[in-house]
Amino acid sequence: MAFSLPELPYAKDALEPHIDARTMEIHHAKHHNGYTTNLNNAIDGTDLASKTIDEILKGLDMNNAAVRNNGGGFYNHSLFWKVMSPNGGGNPSGDLAEAIVASFGSVDAFKEKFGTAAGTRFGSGWAWLCVHKGGKLDICSTANQDNPLMPGIGCGGHPILGLDVWEHAYYLNYQNRRPDYVTAFFNVINWDEVAQGFAAGK
Ligand code: MN
Repeated sequence: MAFSLPELPYAKDALEPHIDARTMEIHHAKHHNGYTTNLNNAIDGTDLASKTIDEILKGLDMNNAAVRNNGGGFYNHSLFWKVMSPNGGGNPSGDLAEAIVASFGSVDAFKEKFGTAAGTRFGSGWAWLCVHKGGKLDICSTANQDNPLMPGIGCGGHPILGLDVWEHAYYLNYQNRRPDYVTAFFNVINWDEVAQGFAAGK
């Protein structure tokens, strides 16, 4: 069964001024659509075609570059759209907030550590907040379209928040100012979605 490009859960301009409409349009309709098409082409006629995307990433042959790059790209962006919202921002609450404090000391300390992971990823990649069984949280970053579900990659937990730091995610609006983009991301984080991921993955 082929994968399909998920719809954006809000209008392309809904995240302005933090993420501009033109970036959202190209990022979703061109980049994410390309990863989706190329993933389908890479798994067509193989035993991967009957698996879920989680199963594909967890069991990935890391030498299979087409599935690694495009399967990662498909998964990563599918999560990315969901963890942002025009009603987002602010701070987490409830069990997730307690777990963040337990793992990082405070919400502010979490934001600083996550921002550092995003800011220091050289070249293209992602910053992640991941949950391990038992509820422990970890921050890591990965290169290119790698994902923490892949064998031996990142912090190995289940990703519940991801930030795309490829230049295609911010260059039109922020040019080389990745730290400004990272700051803007905190204004649109959909903490309700992250909390759902935490509850499911802990
Ligand atoms: Mn991207």
